[in-house]
Amino acid sequence: MVVPAVERANFGAVASVCRDYPDCFPAYGIHPLYVDRARPEDLDALREILRREFAVAVGEIGLDRHHGNNGPRDDERQALYFTEQLKIAREFQLPVLLHVRKAIDPILAAVRQAKVCGGIAHAFNGSRQQAGEFIKLGFKLGFGGAMTYPGSTRIRELAATLPLASIVLETDAPDIPPVWKVGSRNTPADLLRIAETLAELRGLPLEVIAAATTENARAVLPRLTIS
Ligand SMILES: [Zn+2]
Repeated sequence: MVVPAVERANFGAVASVCRDYPDCFPAYGIHPLYVDRARPEDLDALREILRREFAVAVGEIGLDRHHGNNGPRDDERQALYFTEQLKIAREFQLPVLLHVRKAIDPILAAVRQAKVCGGIAHAFNGSRQQAGEFIKLGFKLGFGGAMTYPGSTRIRELAATLPLASIVLETDAPDIPPVWKVGSRNTPADLLRIAETLAELRGLPLEVIAAATTENARAVLPRLTIS
C-alpha cells in the first residue's frame, strides 16, 4: 500500500505509519486542496523529509479545478505549488502521484515541461486520448472506486480496454467509496473487490489482474519492494 501525504502537517504521521507497518510505503507532497494553508517553507520541509526519509514518490500533488464545497479555489496558488513540487520530484528522481481533477491538459503540459520520471495519475477520469498522453509520458493510470459504479460508463470502458500494462489499482481510502460502500468508510481492504471488478470488466481471472497490477505498480514506483 502506498500512503501519500497531503500537507506538511501530516508528513510525520505518514512516516510513522509506514515505519510501523512494513507493507505501507510513504509518499510526501502537498495536495492541491491543501495549498491554501501551505507556506513556501513547506517546500523546504518536503525536500528535507525526502532527504531524511525513504519515499516511493512525491505525492499527492496536482491541480483540482472542481467547484466543490472546499471553499474558494486559488488556481494560481495550486499551479505554483504543483510546479515547484514537480521540480522537487525531478531533483530527487522520484515519480509523482497526481491528483487530476478537471485539469488534465494543464497537468499534462506541466508534467511534460518538468520532465519528471513518470508516476501515477490517480482516479483517472479523462478521455482515451488523454490516457494515451499520460502513458507516453511514463505514467500508469489509477482505477478504483469510481470503476465499480455501473453508471460510470466511460471509466469502465477505459478500464476494460486500455493496455493492462498501464493500469494500477487504488482505493483512495477514505474517499471515493466503491458502490458497496456508499455511506460508509472506504478502506484499503476494499482493494480486493476493486480488483475483482476489473477482472470482470476485462473478462480475465483475478490472479491475472492481481499479478499484472502488482507488476505495474512496481514498474512505475521502483522503490516499492513487494514480495
Ligand atoms: Zn486525489
